[in-house]
Amino acid sequence: MFDHILLAVDGSDHSLKAAKVAGNLARLSGGTLHVITAYDEVPGYLGEPNLSNAIAERTQSAEKILAAALEEIGEISGEYESEYLEGSPAETILRDAKTHNADVIIMGTRGRGEMRSLLLGSQSHKVLSEANCPVMLVR
Ligand code: ATP
Ligand code: MG
Repeated sequence: MFDHILLAVDGSDHSLKAAKVAGNLARLSGGTLHVITAYDEVPGYLGEPNLSNAIAERTQSAEKILAAALEEIGEISGEYESEYLEGSPAETILRDAKTHNADVIIMGTRGRGEMRSLLLGSQSHKVLSEANCPVMLVR
């Protein structure tokens, strides 16, 4: 049933918990695990060398986030793929779920945002509202 699992991570403890659950589900189902992190668009008006520096900084931080998630996931028997994508998190996650025919999207209830009074972060809320497949929110 969960042949294609999409995990979205932002480096928060919440998303690392989601990574652990995604690893367990992948081991149970034997399915493929696709892990993504989205970063904000780098504004072109920055000019060089600021533009290149900003891109390098974002890609470095995205690679760290993906490496931390991989550590939580552990060994899985199915295919594993990770990538960082430029764009708004929820839109990127929704688009990726469609293109990869995800059977489930796994993410945290909250992320790195500071608005602790809310139950759900804005990105998990948007994905939950608009996804065409089951969404698992981990807390
Ligand atoms: P807000 O961003 O609205 O201030 P928040 O940061 O607490 O609130 P969300 O951003 O909705 O909450 O984060 C919920 C979950 O969404 C995270 O645990 C993570 O799984 C996913 N997520 C958030 N941002 C990203 C991102 N940039 N790339 C991939 N997944 C993300
Ligand atoms: Mg957030």
